[in-house]
Amino acid sequence: MNKDFVRACYREFDAACLFVDAPMRFHTTFRIGGPADLLFYPNNTEEVQKIIHMARTFNEPVTLLGNGSNILVRDGGVRGLVIRFSRKMAQIVREGTDVVVGAGALLRDVAVFAQKNALSGLEFACGIPGSIGGAVFMNAGAYDDEMKSVVASVKTVSAAGDIRLYAANELDFSYRHSIFHRCEQAICEIRLHLHEADAGCIMQTMEELNQRRRSKQPLSYPSAGSTFKRPPGYFAGTLIDQTGLKGLTVGGAQVSQKHAGFIINIGNATSQDVQQLIALIQQRVYARHEVQLTPELRIIGTL
Ligand SMILES: Cc1cc2nc3c(=O)[nH]c(=O)nc-3n(C[C@H](O)[C@H](O)[C@H](O)COP(=O)(O)OP(=O)(O)OC[C@H]3O[C@@H](n4cnc5c(N)ncnc54)[C@H](O)[C@@H]3O)c2cc1C
Repeated sequence: MNKDFVRACYREFDAACLFVDAPMRFHTTFRIGGPADLLFYPNNTEEVQKIIHMARTFNEPVTLLGNGSNILVRDGGVRGLVIRFSRKMAQIVREGTDVVVGAGALLRDVAVFAQKNALSGLEFACGIPGSIGGAVFMNAGAYDDEMKSVVASVKTVSAAGDIRLYAANELDFSYRHSIFHRCEQAICEIRLHLHEADAGCIMQTMEELNQRRRSKQPLSYPSAGSTFKRPPGYFAGTLIDQTGLKGLTVGGAQVSQKHAGFIINIGNATSQDVQQLIALIQQRVYARHEVQLTPELRIIGTL
C-alpha cells in the first residue's frame, strides 16, 4: 500500500478510526481472514466521501464492509482500503412512520428502536447479525420477509465520491440481490417505511422468531450464516443433510450438525479450509441430487 496514502489518511482523520494491517478475523463473524492494509471506521457520510476520493487519487482499491456477517475473507487479507460501517455511523431517527438510519446500525438495534416506537415491519430482521447497510446490499431476509418490503430509499456515495439517492423502485431487489451487486456504491443512509402497530405484539413476534433461530441455528460457533443460496424448489440445508454431509470437516471448518446449511469455524479454520469444504459440498450434492449450490456468502481478498 502507498505509504503517502496512509500518511494522508492520518492527517485527515482521527487516528482512533484508522487501523494498519487490521486482521480481518476480528471484523467478521466467521473469525477468519488475513489483514486489511488499512481499515477505516467513518463517522459520517462526508468522511466516506472524503476517503473514497483520496483512495481514488492514490489509486487504492476500496472494499466496503458492514458487520462482516456474510463475508469470507481469504487468508492473504485485503489490499487497499477497507471502509467498515459500524456503530460510529449508526444514527436512528424517527420521522413519522419512517425511520432514517445510518448504514452501520445493527439490524437488531434498528428492530428494537422500531419496536419501542410501536413501528412494525422489521421484526423478521431482529435476529440477523448484520448492519442495515449490509442488509440492503444483500436484500437480507427471513421468515418470508425481506428488506425489499421496508426500504423506501437509500443514500450512497459513488466510487467517484458523489452522493446519490436511490428510490425503492431503482434498487432492483430480488432474492439476496440488490442493484449494488453490479454498481458499486457505499451505502450510507437508509430510509425505512414502517407502519404503526402494538409494541407488545411486535415484541412477542421478535421473541418468537429469535427463539426459532436459537433452536435451529448453531449460534455458539463462528459462521457466516447460510453458506449457500436457496436453489429454486429446494432448501440447501436439506439437500446437504440428505447427502449425509453433516459433520464433514476440512481443517477447522465443519458442516454444522445442528443445521447443515451452515459451515462453522470449530477452531482456527482458514479461508482455504472453508473454500475446500464448500467445493466438496457442491460436488457431493451435485452428484447425489443434480442441483448446483451457489454460495450466498461473499468471498473477498487475496490468497
Ligand atoms: C448466525 C447468522 C445468521 C444469519 N441469518 C441470516 C438470515 O436469516 N437472513 C439473511 O438474509 N442473512 C443472514 N445472515 C447473513 C448476514 O447476517 C446478512 O447477509 C447481513 O445482511 C449481512 O450484513 P453485514 O453488515 O454483516 O454485511 P457484510 O457481511 O459486512 O457484507 C456483505 C456484503 O455487503 C456489502 N456491504 C456491507 N455494508 C455495505 C455498505 N454500507 N455499502 C455497500 N456495501 C456494503 C459488502 O461489501 C459485502 O459484499 C446470517 C449470518 C449469521 C452469521
